[in-house]
Amino acid sequence: MKMLKQEVYFPIIIGIHFIFWAIDLSLYNGSFMEVSSDTLFFGELTNVGWDNAHRILGEVFSSWVVTVFAFNFLMATRARWVEKLFGGLDKMYLIHRRSGVIAVFLLLAHFIAVPRDLVAFNPGKPLGFYALILIIVGVILSAAPIFKRKIPYNKWINFHKLMGLFYVMAVLHGLMVSSLIKELPITRVYVFGMAFLGIAAWFYRAFLYGVFNKKLNYSINEVNDLGSGITEVKLKAKANELVYKAGQFVFVKFPSISKKEQHPFTISSHPSEGDLRVTIKGLGDYTNNLHEKIAVGEAVTIEGPFGLFTFDNLDKKEQIWIAGGIGITPFLSLIKEVGNQKNVKLFWCVKNDSEAIYKSEIEAVVAENPNIDFTVWTSDDNGYLTVDKLGLTAYKDKDYLICGPQVLKTSIMTQLKKEGVKQKQIHDEEFAFR
Ligand SMILES: Cc1cc2nc3c(=O)[nH]c(=O)nc-3n(C[C@H](O)[C@H](O)[C@H](O)COP(=O)(O)OP(=O)(O)OC[C@H]3O[C@@H](n4cnc5c(N)ncnc54)[C@H](O)[C@@H]3O)c2cc1C
Repeated sequence: MKMLKQEVYFPIIIGIHFIFWAIDLSLYNGSFMEVSSDTLFFGELTNVGWDNAHRILGEVFSSWVVTVFAFNFLMATRARWVEKLFGGLDKMYLIHRRSGVIAVFLLLAHFIAVPRDLVAFNPGKPLGFYALILIIVGVILSAAPIFKRKIPYNKWINFHKLMGLFYVMAVLHGLMVSSLIKELPITRVYVFGMAFLGIAAWFYRAFLYGVFNKKLNYSINEVNDLGSGITEVKLKAKANELVYKAGQFVFVKFPSISKKEQHPFTISSHPSEGDLRVTIKGLGDYTNNLHEKIAVGEAVTIEGPFGLFTFDNLDKKEQIWIAGGIGITPFLSLIKEVGNQKNVKLFWCVKNDSEAIYKSEIEAVVAENPNIDFTVWTSDDNGYLTVDKLGLTAYKDKDYLICGPQVLKTSIMTQLKKEGVKQKQIHDEEFAFR
């Protein structure tokens, strides 16, 4: 399936509206009128026809908002085909986040531009206003860096789930107030069809997701404190085993820490191995000192697998893999899949040798496979890794896989692009959904 990147996604969403609106308006000769309406900043409109700029623009903005949010709810269903369409859950959530911010600006533009009928009171009006405020608050809490830092993920996600209710309020507002959209046949079907899709997707995610996505039951087989704040957990299936590909991730719930929360972790074992292994760095409330919070024998539930950071998407023989810190986890699995089809150069960026906790495990795989070249890159001794240190004579015609902190990813990607490497040759995994 062809991947939908954000550079394409946003123009498509906007373009479709232009087409529908243009067809409908060019054919419309109805009688919609502003008998006595007011605009927020542009004064009153009395006995003005449907073709005033405020009415058209204000409603075009609202139709975008409906569609953008409908797709956002569709993304939240984590359906496999949606994940594939966006190139992985991590990329999908990035677009989901950006779309939310764009939708808020469109919502404000709608509020500023659209005329308000001064003659008839309608409960849809205050409903729309409350929806506007609540959606803005919801998006600010999700996107503003200060709130991202201050509000723990699990508290934020509980509030975030209410976005669906705010959306329902906004759609009801659209149905209750008089509007041009309701007079235009194509736009009406499209906008309210999208609204229905969005509400159905939210309803599924909020109430039915757990019913249709059965979790797999595992128990903890081993817990190892690897130092540097990292815990390795090996899990054994109680009944059905997870079928996964090297490089994928799962959502894990450790009920002894929280009965509600589940967190995403890459599977650091290979599908051919018995236990399912995750390797977790302490980065917050849930993951800090994990080895002290869980114990062998405890029950764990798994949901997945997800992710497209797998061999399926790699077509070049020459592979350059760059991991930063805990970003080594997908490579621990992928490296066991290399065989003799590909030549891999793996760089693991850590501060110093003591952080390279899987060095001997990787070296054992490398010893068996001459096609893999492995370097532990210690920043204390060598400074940060740059592309000129990768030892390449040519940059094009290779796949680049990067997993690690955002600064490392941005820096390496920028340098690669300067060397003429195309975006489609660079594959990266985001370790954050928010
Ligand atoms: C695809 C993917 C693969 C990952 N693989 C690994 C791995 O192999 N090893 C590893 O150590 N870490 C991995 N992570 C990161 C790990 O999920 C977070 O570090 C962990 O959830 C932090 O939880 P916390 O409550 O301790 O920290 P917090 O301080 O609450 O969270 C820190 C950040 O982690 C993210 N996060 C927290 N909770 C969740 C959640 N329930 N769902 C989604 N994101 C959340 C948010 O971006 C949050 O801002 C992965 C993340 C993703 C998205």
